[in-house]
Amino acid sequence: MTRVLTLNAGSSSIKFAVFSSGDAPEELASGQIESLYSFGGVLSLKWQGKKTKTELGQADHVEGVRAILDAVAPVLDGQGVAAIGHRVVHGGTVYDAPAVLTDEVMATLEKFVPLAPLHQPHNLAAVRAAMEAFPDAVQVGCFDTAFHRGHPWVNDTFALPRRYYEAGVRRYGFHGLSYDYIAGAMARIDPQGADRTVVCHLGNGASMCALREGQSVASTMGFSALDGLPMGTRCGQLDPGVMLYLMEQEGMDAKAISDLLYKESGLKGLSDLSNDMRVLEGAGTPEADQAIEYFVFRIRRELGSLAAVLGGLDTVVFTGGIGENSANIRGKVCSDMEWIGITLDEAANAEHAAVISSGDVTVRVIPTDEELVIATAAISALEDARAAAAE
Ligand code: AMP
Repeated sequence: MTRVLTLNAGSSSIKFAVFSSGDAPEELASGQIESLYSFGGVLSLKWQGKKTKTELGQADHVEGVRAILDAVAPVLDGQGVAAIGHRVVHGGTVYDAPAVLTDEVMATLEKFVPLAPLHQPHNLAAVRAAMEAFPDAVQVGCFDTAFHRGHPWVNDTFALPRRYYEAGVRRYGFHGLSYDYIAGAMARIDPQGADRTVVCHLGNGASMCALREGQSVASTMGFSALDGLPMGTRCGQLDPGVMLYLMEQEGMDAKAISDLLYKESGLKGLSDLSNDMRVLEGAGTPEADQAIEYFVFRIRRELGSLAAVLGGLDTVVFTGGIGENSANIRGKVCSDMEWIGITLDEAANAEHAAVISSGDVTVRVIPTDEELVIATAAISALEDARAAAAE
């Protein structure tokens, strides 16, 4: 049986997984490289119930992809990699579905680098490295923005002069692979009861999405992955006047502001301690508690806002590292929410049960699986390619 590889390249990390390519793809192995570009690069692999770690030293994205290909060789067991699915952050206004990465598509994706300068170049570097290593494999791009391309115009625009909309300054929304997975899971779990769903993807990156009958109609993230909720190190919603102040009064340039907003803000900035929710929950300092309080406050505010977009609420889903694992955060978000129909079942929440509510609105915990969404898209493209070759 042929194998399918998924690659999910962040700015300093690459996650990967190997799947079988049957009707129901099965994950055979998974892992990640952390701390690219630093001297402490490490590749970890989970395969056959065992975890192994390999020190990489200082590696860039291309070296990282090569190390992954070496590490997964035993998993492939002499089988070819027939398709590689790549997470690509930005598909611009062009892509509302996965796309086979031809030279022409890569040239188009290159044009979106200014829209996501911190992520898109790494994604494309990983694609090129994979193309070099597996020239015969079908390479498929799965875009974080694609799931949100059906947003109505009011949720796609900013109130700027119209030429900016035409130039691509829009509310793209991100975390689309996670929301795609959750929409699919909801269609299986509760096909009748999920007309109006708000999904809270709470991880190191965090956003929320309003789904109407499984389609995204609004998201807390906008033009960049900075907007909406505060995140591990990103600021979330910010009055644009703050940026003007930073430039005019503090003399900060684009690089300094970018570092501040992407790397020094959010939970880390507010707590003065860490971007990691587990650390903050255990810290007990006033600053850590306030960082958590602000995180929860923004989630609750957005929940009300997205429920208004949907004209009511049937289901809330928690996912992502924090959403799946922190009963504390879920409990704080859902407390005193009877006015909107949410009544928390505290025992179920403490056990991380699949349903953690007892009121009119069903609150669910669903572990997300972005890798499965990527693998499924890659397999589908592979089947299309084989069917076309057979004609
Ligand atoms: P992700 O980006 O989805 O991998 O999520 C990472 C975030 O999830 C980090 O802030 C972690 O601290 C948080 N997280 C993971 N496990 C737990 C847990 N058991 N309790 C609280 N937060 C957690």
